Amino acid sequence: MSGHKDRVYLSPPHMNAREREFLLDAFDSNWIAPIGPDLNAFEQEVAAKVGVAHSAGLASGTAAIHLALQLLGVGSGDEVLVSSFTFAASVNPVCYLGATPVLLDSERGTWNLDPNVLETVLQNKAQKGTLPKALVVVDLYGQAADYDAIVPLCQRYGVPIVEDAAEALGATFQGKHAGSFGDMGVFSFNGNKIITTSGGGMLVSDNETWITRARHLATQAREPAAHYEHVDVGYNYRLSNLLAALGRGQLEDLDAKVDKKRAIFAAYKEALGHIDGIEFMPQDPRGRSNCWLTCLTVDPSITGVDREVLRLGLEDENIESRPLWKPMHLQSVFSKAPYFGGQVAEQLFETGLCLPSGTSLKDEDFQRTVGVLRTLLRDT
Ligand SMILES: *Cc1c(COP(=O)(O)O)cnc(C)c1O
Repeated sequence: MSGHKDRVYLSPPHMNAREREFLLDAFDSNWIAPIGPDLNAFEQEVAAKVGVAHSAGLASGTAAIHLALQLLGVGSGDEVLVSSFTFAASVNPVCYLGATPVLLDSERGTWNLDPNVLETVLQNKAQKGTLPKALVVVDLYGQAADYDAIVPLCQRYGVPIVEDAAEALGATFQGKHAGSFGDMGVFSFNGNKIITTSGGGMLVSDNETWITRARHLATQAREPAAHYEHVDVGYNYRLSNLLAALGRGQLEDLDAKVDKKRAIFAAYKEALGHIDGIEFMPQDPRGRSNCWLTCLTVDPSITGVDREVLRLGLEDENIESRPLWKPMHLQSVFSKAPYFGGQVAEQLFETGLCLPSGTSLKDEDFQRTVGVLRTLLRDT
């Protein structure tokens, strides 16, 4: 046990001097909340970075998914297809709207939604005349899904795409930014994401009508009347100006953060990639992942130790690591949701581990993490 050693976190917030300046400027100008010049600027800056025309700053990525699905008319009795291998926030908003999530397996090549499973499900549902209202596709751990296959498939069947790029800001696929492949795209600025506003999210789209309506719904659906006239049920989902100011500072460093995360992935692979039974998350050569978290799988029949031995061994040294997402079709809360696919996501969950990948990770902490893993894996 080495409780005296500083804890190494998975992906902690990483602030620089500019964030402090932006934040204090917003503070001193008294543009605290709800809206203000930094929110407008942050929306424009994110949209410009990602290459989409419009964006709405929101309180969370979850709120962005909720509004996106509502804008697509998802409601009670509808089905929405969702990647099963993800965080629960991709699926929960489907349930807020009274619709049924239909969960789909991943492919081994990217760990993202398997386009073959998607095709089979769309074909079958089209034959029965029960096409889903939307697809929520996740760009997992900062790597874009296979949009060369997914976009034409969804176009063929007229199913709109909500791209959950919560983890993938700054990643690209075929030279285009993650978040720009869906009819709407979603980002999160939660504390563990590649850039953070402490909490926050954004909905992006080329469709101005949707984004204008998202802003309206996010501000309690107040009609422009002094006495507060209401036609729709709204939400309190707007990002505060103070937090948007923080986000502007973070965004200035996004490219550097992507480079740093990619360097961390490369360094782990260099240090551990030669060990039999250890595989790193495959990198699709058509894209450039932001490597939000460095993830690997361990085959205990080769290494003699399973993922939990590695995780608990790291924990003993005060180093945080986590299993890969537990697939949504294995969660009791979604046990009634239909599932299509095989055991890809399930096996990844059983064997996979996310390693400390913060952009502020110190070399000594990286070396310490690698050292613990090499000892546990008897790589001497
Ligand atoms: C973080 C995350 C979300 C939710 O974003 P919040 O801002 O925390 O609400 C949604 N989907 C995925 C895949 C995420 O990782």
